[in-house]
Amino acid sequence: MALFSLVYVSVSDKLMTDSELKAILDVARTNNARDQITGMLLYRSGYFIQVLEGEEEAVMRTYNKILLDSRHFNCLIVYKNQIAEPAFERWSMGFNHLEQIDPSASPEVKEFMAHPFEPSHLTAKPTIAVHLLESFRDQNTF
Ligand code: FAD
Repeated sequence: MALFSLVYVSVSDKLMTDSELKAILDVARTNNARDQITGMLLYRSGYFIQVLEGEEEAVMRTYNKILLDSRHFNCLIVYKNQIAEPAFERWSMGFNHLEQIDPSASPEVKEFMAHPFEPSHLTAKPTIAVHLLESFRDQNTF
């Protein structure tokens, strides 16, 4: 089975509480386990970065559902491509607060975290989004 990875960013409709984030994750994890999708969701005061990995059709079906969700808007695909192996196979959907990243991890991360969120920053440099997500590869907050 060819594996596919899609990374997008979006803006939340309001500042999210942990219980609102958990409600998203409860449904996401149930659906993703059924659809053999893995990934990671990062949240930072008002925006999301998410990676979905799996069979291309399943990933696109899930992304198209997520696009319609009124809890966020301005979904912008940062990266989509075939991959040799999943990077987040431990998580049907991992979650972390982006603030927990070590800003000294790399100059790119430091620069990204020092500025207000600007989606075009990530679409221009998709490797930063991938780097942010992969920094949390082995970590799950709740
Ligand atoms: P439904 O029966 O349609 O909904 C299940 C429950 O989700 C509802 O009972 C309700 O509590 C809640 N819900 C759905 N829409 C809303 C809404 N607009 N406002 C408040 N509560 C709502 N889904 C996935 O399957 N996989 C993912 O990886 C995933 N990631 C997401 C990331 C983000 C940032 C967001 C905002 C949503 C994500 N979702 C994900 C949820 C997705 O958008 C759909 O809500 C969900 O897939 C619907 O699932 P369903 O058809 O099984 O359930």
